[in-house]
Amino acid sequence: MRIARFAAGGDPQYGVVELADDGGPNPDTVSVLTGDPMAMSVKLTGERKELEGVRLLAPVIPRSKIVAVGRNYAAHAAEMSEELPKTPLTFFKPNTSVIGPGEPIIYPAASREVSYEGELAVVIGRICKEVPASRVPEVIFGYTVANDVTARDLQKTDVQWARAKGYDTFCPLGPWITTHQGLEEVASLAIRTSLDGELRQDGNTKDLIFTIPELVSYISSYTTLLPGDVILTGTPSGVGPMLPGQVVSIDIEGVGTLTNPVAGTRSEEAPNEAEQ
Ligand code: MG
Repeated sequence: MRIARFAAGGDPQYGVVELADDGGPNPDTVSVLTGDPMAMSVKLTGERKELEGVRLLAPVIPRSKIVAVGRNYAAHAAEMSEELPKTPLTFFKPNTSVIGPGEPIIYPAASREVSYEGELAVVIGRICKEVPASRVPEVIFGYTVANDVTARDLQKTDVQWARAKGYDTFCPLGPWITTHQGLEEVASLAIRTSLDGELRQDGNTKDLIFTIPELVSYISSYTTLLPGDVILTGTPSGVGPMLPGQVVSIDIEGVGTLTNPVAGTRSEEAPNEAEQ
């Protein structure tokens, strides 16, 4: 089942998306739900809208945090000339970095190299702590597509990554959440990122170094996860810079396609270097 968060002139609402391509009605529709399925039990209101006629929003605004995982594909670690981590390398992105499908990624004045990172995102469904790997399926609500946007130059010069990974608009999520049916459903999914229609990343979730159960178990060993928290599972190889005016699109097989334009201006000056 696909759960979208959308606006149709009023407050955000949740709904169940049905696609003609999957045997659903034609045109594609969204059936409205009574509330937030990550916070309460919900039911269908009976109202159904054409998907074309609504504006999709980020399918979740994380209640407390986004936990992201670095160097979780060997080919990406190699392209960054980094060693493979022995335990998951995790960091936080603030929930204020989240934007939805179609919203612009704003190029920060302090950076001259902003990169895309296409990633499978796990959406947590229940409050949990110290979850054994075998019980991780019980705490997953579903999956969505994420772009772990990164100011690569600032990531190299700042010791901590809070700024390089945490700017407003640096965590596009969407277009919807595919609800969790079983881990095997996400065990081997193609992840492809294109920039202005040109393929830049062509990976597969089967190449994750630390698996989803290992990641959720590890992260929940040090922090309580809340319903609606999001875990970014790492990016495959092929990362690279984006420029204002370009459009970045990430497709994960069976989950969906997340597309965002890049806006703002890229300074000719290098403020980061000038500060040093
Ligand atoms: Mg990343």
